[in-house]
This record gives sequence, structure tokens and C-alpha cells, in this order.
Amino acid sequence: MVEISVVLPVYNEEQNLKELYARLSETLRQLTNAYEILFVNDGSNDGSLAIIKNYSSTDSRIKFISFTRNFGHQNAIAAGIQNARGNAVITMDADLQDPPELISDMHRYFTEGYKVVYARRLSRPGESSFKRFTAKAFYRLMKRITAIDIPIDTGDFRLIGREVAMKLGEMKEANKFLRGQIAWMGFTPKFIEYERPGRKHGSTKFTIKRMTRFAIDGITSFSNFPLQIATFLGFLFSIVAFILILYSLNSKYILHQVVTGWTSLMVSTMFIGGVQLLCIGIIGEYIMRINNDVKRRPSFIVEESNINDMS
Ligand code: UDP
Ligand code: MG
Repeated sequence: MVEISVVLPVYNEEQNLKELYARLSETLRQLTNAYEILFVNDGSNDGSLAIIKNYSSTDSRIKFISFTRNFGHQNAIAAGIQNARGNAVITMDADLQDPPELISDMHRYFTEGYKVVYARRLSRPGESSFKRFTAKAFYRLMKRITAIDIPIDTGDFRLIGREVAMKLGEMKEANKFLRGQIAWMGFTPKFIEYERPGRKHGSTKFTIKRMTRFAIDGITSFSNFPLQIATFLGFLFSIVAFILILYSLNSKYILHQVVTGWTSLMVSTMFIGGVQLLCIGIIGEYIMRINNDVKRRPSFIVEESNINDMS
């Protein structure tokens, strides 16, 4: 029987692992003897895997899953949750931005009956103002255009109970957005608050490109609002077009004053072209999701693990 599982996605974190392992084990030991730490190596090309395997050879509570290549943060967390055996499953970053010491409080709320406990960032001094601004804007937008309520200023540092973890495993979507999926389930959450420090070592793996992809995944998996915008634009411009058609016919057949009109033609062609491409792009995003889902490929491939009955 395992009481607490801690799932850690790892992508080139060799410099952070030692302190992480020490602080995490210390915190967990004070709570229970029945814990496991599950590292998910997401295709690191530094010494991370060797370090993790070294820990697992001396400490039977250390489990690891190593992917064949980089499958991304969300897939790494999902793989960990799927294979965690604990009554409480905690996910956190491996770069020490999520302080392991907070687990005590999170676990206390779990024992009081909460099935989802989030760590909420009060401030994020270690991160750029650009990242803070875009993150805030994104969650405000999500709140407006989706029916689910993703708690503002939380990330993937959270505790979920066994049944929540099982339900999460049943959601087979290819492009995962776990914070949305968990909010969607609707369990009453509890929050603990903390100041989020900067990274200890190394640099962020979330480039602007990855962040944009993540944001689009979040929006398209939980909202059809962009499609409604496309429909709305279609209606709007149809009305404008109808008025312009009447105007043109009137100019030609009633007023007999047709002018060359190069500028107006150019402007309207370009404008309609732009709107059409935008709408096709929006539809394309949804088709991409459908495409990824119908292929039913596994979301990760495991190269190596010390878990016997992996799922
Ligand atoms: N990570 C991962 N796969 C990736 C990118 C990141 O497993 O493709 C891990 C990374 O090692 C870290 C966590 O996910 O433990 C969060 O990544 P990062 O600190 O780069 O994100 P940020 O804190 O800047 O949002
Ligand atoms: Mg980080």
C-alpha cells in the first residue's frame, strides 16, 4: 500500500536532482513510510537518467519511467499519474520551482477529505514579466470562453486523490491539457499558497512556441468559442457583402456611374482573404485535434523502467 506518490517530469535537470531528491525524501519521510517518488525522464540528453537510476539502485522507493524521446511535459506527467500507486498523487516540477516542503500541507488537506489540492502562486519573482502577463491573460480568457473554471495562478503543482487519477487515465485525448481536464471533473478544490521561486539551475524548456501550442491546446480542448467567432464573422461579412451588392447594382443600372474603383477592390479582396484564411485556420486547429485523436497513437513510448507492471 502506497500512501503518497510524487510524480516528477524530468527533461535535462541533472543539476537540480540532488537537492530535489534530498528535500523531497526528507519531507516525505516525516509524513509516511509508504511513499514513492516517480521520475519520468522525458528524453533528457544530459546525465539526468543516470542520476535517477543511481538513486533507484539504492532506494527502492524511487521509481522511474524513461521515454524513448521527448514527448512533452503533459505526456510525462500523464504517464507518471497513470503508473503511480499512491492514494494521493502529487505532480510537481523537477526544477525546484515547486518547493517540496509544501507537500506536508497538501497532504494534510487530503487527509481532511479534499480530493484535489492546488498550490497557488502568490508571486512569481523568478519569472519574466512577459511570462507572468501572458499567463494571466490566458487564464482570464479561458475563464470567459469555457464552462470550466481553471483556478488562476495554479500550474501542475497539485495533489489528486486515487479516484481522480483513475478518471484522468480514462480521458484518452491525444493533446492533453491536464489542468483543464482536472478542473473539468469538478471536484471541490482546496488551495495552499506560496511564493514561486525562480529555477535553481538550467533554463526553462517552455519557449514562446511551446507556450503558444499549449495555450491553443487548452482553448481548443475546452471551448468552441473560436468556431463561433468564425461563424459570427461569416454572418457579419455576408451582411456587409449584401449591402455592397445592392450599392453596386444601383450604381451601375440606376445611376449609371460606375468608376474604376481599384482601391476599394484591393481593400475588400485583401480583407475578405484574410478573414477567410483566419477562419480556415481556426477550423484547421479543431481538425488537427480530431486527426490526432482518431490515430489513437500512444502518447509516449517507454524505453526503460523499474516498474514491473507498467500501464
Ligand atoms: N519538462 C518535461 N518535458 C518537456 C519540458 C519540460 O518533462 O518537454 C519538465 C521540466 O524538466 C520541469 C518541468 O517539466 O521539471 C517544468 O518545465 P520548465 O521548468 O521548463 O517550465 P516552466 O517552469 O518554465 O514553466
Ligand atoms: Mg520551471
